[in-house]
Amino acid sequence: MFCDNCGTELADDATFCSSCGNQVKLRDNKNIYIALILTFLLTGLGSIYAGNTIKGLVLLIVRIVCVIFGIFLSIFLVFSLLVWAYSFYEAYRDVQIANGHQNPKLIRDFKSWNRNNKIIAVLIICIISILTVAACISIITADTYSPSHSETHYYSSGSGSSIGSGSSHYGGVDTSPNSIARNDPDWYYDHYEYGDNPDIDDYLESQGYD
Ligand SMILES: [Zn+2]
Repeated sequence: MFCDNCGTELADDATFCSSCGNQVKLRDNKNIYIALILTFLLTGLGSIYAGNTIKGLVLLIVRIVCVIFGIFLSIFLVFSLLVWAYSFYEAYRDVQIANGHQNPKLIRDFKSWNRNNKIIAVLIICIISILTVAACISIITADTYSPSHSETHYYSSGSGSSIGSGSSHYGGVDTSPNSIARNDPDWYYDHYEYGDNPDIDDYLESQGYD
């Protein structure tokens, strides 16, 4: 028998962990990895698996509402990702509570774990964090450069109307819309986004472009 909290090997009749003081109970143990995988598949499902059905459903509903609002305002998609990431922490807490811990706290618990458990925990936290940050960045980036403006659109409109005035833009190696938007915002907005808009021209000029 091993301590759920710190992994120390215990006598079969132990009621407390000799290393961390964790109370040992006879119970239907919930597996943290199953809870994390279920949470990965569906927000809140890990908490439901660990027996906290209400919290799991609340997390799921909040996530769904954020995604629905995200159709109209993409910041809600960022919120929905934060809910997704947070639901892993709640799944961890619910599994620990189901396994007999009175008041699980990740950072405090972490200190009492053995080396292998610490490495696994850090890896899991890193993976969740990287996925969350990468998805948030892609949402924010997609919001700035609308995906509806395709390469095809750029080349067809560029060759038709502005190959004379904008020929220098074809000299460089990278003529993707994004790099043009970075290097020459005024040209980008004129020919790609809005047509020749005097207000935007004036604004960009006042910002030191063009
Ligand atoms: Zn222990």
